Amino acid sequence: MKSKTRNKKEKVVSLELRAQKNEEAMIAGILEGSPEGIGVAVIRLDCGCKKMAAVNRQGEPASKVVIYRDNSESVCEQCKQDNGPFARVAAQFIHWQATDLDGATRLKIEAKVLGTYTSH
Ligand SMILES: [Zn+2]
Repeated sequence: MKSKTRNKKEKVVSLELRAQKNEEAMIAGILEGSPEGIGVAVIRLDCGCKKMAAVNRQGEPASKVVIYRDNSESVCEQCKQDNGPFARVAAQFIHWQATDLDGATRLKIEAKVLGTYTSH
């Protein structure tokens, strides 16, 4: 049997934050309802609940913030109380829909959006 020689590359890829399968469905639904949306901010909380919202080209919210929990009808007790504050964010990133944005623009929007959504 051949040993795996691509470990290094796979590790780099896996470190990148990207949408999981169950998140992709939610993202698609949010973008469908947000014609202006060029991407969706995905915020994973330490309790397992998630927050998402579409963003537009100016880095402004293009949808309401959705908070949900996989395979559950409602968010956890903690989120019901605190609505997932920044202190409990486990990971956050933007799932990009638009493909014509350069790196600098993406960074600018990320800073604006993730700063906005997690500060209150
Ligand atoms: Zn929660």
